[in-house]
Amino acid sequence: GVHEPYVRSFVRKTPNWPREGVTFLDISSLLADVRALRHCIDSLAERYGGGHLTHIAGIDARGFTLGCALAYRLNCGFIMIRKAGKLPPGDDESSSLVSEEYEMEYGRGQLQVPADLFESSSVTTPRVLLVDDLLATGGTACAACNLLRNAGATIVEVAVLIELSSPEICGRRRLKEDAYIDLHSLL
Ligand code: 5GP
Repeated sequence: GVHEPYVRSFVRKTPNWPREGVTFLDISSLLADVRALRHCIDSLAERYGGGHLTHIAGIDARGFTLGCALAYRLNCGFIMIRKAGKLPPGDDESSSLVSEEYEMEYGRGQLQVPADLFESSSVTTPRVLLVDDLLATGGTACAACNLLRNAGATIVEVAVLIELSSPEICGRRRLKEDAYIDLHSLL
């Protein structure tokens, strides 16, 4: 869009962090700039405003920032998809959380939401947009889609601020092939 160079200028790049060979992209300064933040939320709100969404889901923790702002703007509920160990299990250990494992560079990660996420809500057929700051391999987003489906949701699309793609890494394709979901990216 017209504001893309402006928004892009707030993405901080750190070469060889957290490891040699990886360049980490950080959105702290982007979120701190009122115009950059507004451009991102406005652009997503324009795309999804007529989409009859009931919820926005954000991935722990950077997905919470954009996701919750967008949820408020679109009059939707917000879902925190948490990394393992963050959510209290509730009073019924055996059925209180739904979990989904995914491959990370070293070992496996796990995402969780409460099993009764939608039960006490007035929404009977949740239509969810998944939001995160950045998509790389797509492994995290695929796991989040599986998790939300197991919790009873329909996933409408995945939206990220930054899409990384290279000949080796194509998260967009992985999302399509493994989770049957389309990706929308701002940068
Ligand atoms: P993937 O599972 O697609 O390989 O990695 C995406 C996930 O890891 C997202 O939750 C994202 O927040 C995080 N991530 C991986 N690399 C980066 C990066 O360079 N910058 C930021 N901000 N997040 C990253």
